[in-house]
Amino acid sequence: MKKILCLLTMFLLIFTSCSKQKEQNTLDKIIKRDSLLVGVRYDIEPFGFIDEKGEIAGFDIDVAKYIAEKILGSEKKIKFIKVNANTRIEAVTSGQADMVIAAMSNTKSRRYLIDFSIPYYIAGQTAVVRNESNIHTFSDLKDKTTIVVLGSTSEQNIRRIMPIAKIVGYSDYKTAFQALKEGKGDCLSTDDTIISGFIAKNEGYRILKNRISTEHYSIGIQQTEDGILKEKLDNIIKDMQRNGTLKKLKQKWKLI
Ligand code: GLU
Repeated sequence: MKKILCLLTMFLLIFTSCSKQKEQNTLDKIIKRDSLLVGVRYDIEPFGFIDEKGEIAGFDIDVAKYIAEKILGSEKKIKFIKVNANTRIEAVTSGQADMVIAAMSNTKSRRYLIDFSIPYYIAGQTAVVRNESNIHTFSDLKDKTTIVVLGSTSEQNIRRIMPIAKIVGYSDYKTAFQALKEGKGDCLSTDDTIISGFIAKNEGYRILKNRISTEHYSIGIQQTEDGILKEKLDNIIKDMQRNGTLKKLKQKWKLI
């Protein structure tokens, strides 16, 4: 009798731990829901923005569609959730989004809170100034005002390398670039990719030559012990590298 009870308890323990593991598996949840919840930017051209047709478009949006096609068999099975630099981690930790594809750099401090896929794009931080500006290198920023987007690595890096610089922060790139145009700052510092999107549409600005960081854009997901979704995303990204999809997307969105 004792033996049977013991076996029964063991069976129950294994069963509950297995079903718990199943509960934690985000990939299963996505497949069961038959829809991918993706946090994306609406403020970054060409990564995530609203195009002339009023639709969400960009490099990150195309990456999300490719992933939905691979996981669910259709690029249409996505619900896009609007995030900004400050809300993207919470979108993932709260479970509001299965993943964020949001020009988001994989950093050590962010890895305390969420997991990341392998990188799908590599950018570098620089700054944009008006053509006539006397700013040429980052050391020229010491007595100037730098515009940043709050919660970005750009904000952290500027504060670290130039602690005496005056910084003004905005919640998104639309308002930040508008502030630059209105002369509310002497420069705007962010990734070269984001700045090239602005320069392509606005005359009278130049980009600094220096890069003060390497930004590994990766997909942010909830931390789990199983690592199943991460493995799936890593494999999809490896495929996109191998079959030329990422290269084609770079050309499509005129990225360097
Ligand atoms: N890639 C950088 C980051 O993850 C800057 C872009 C942004 O503001 O999101 O913070």
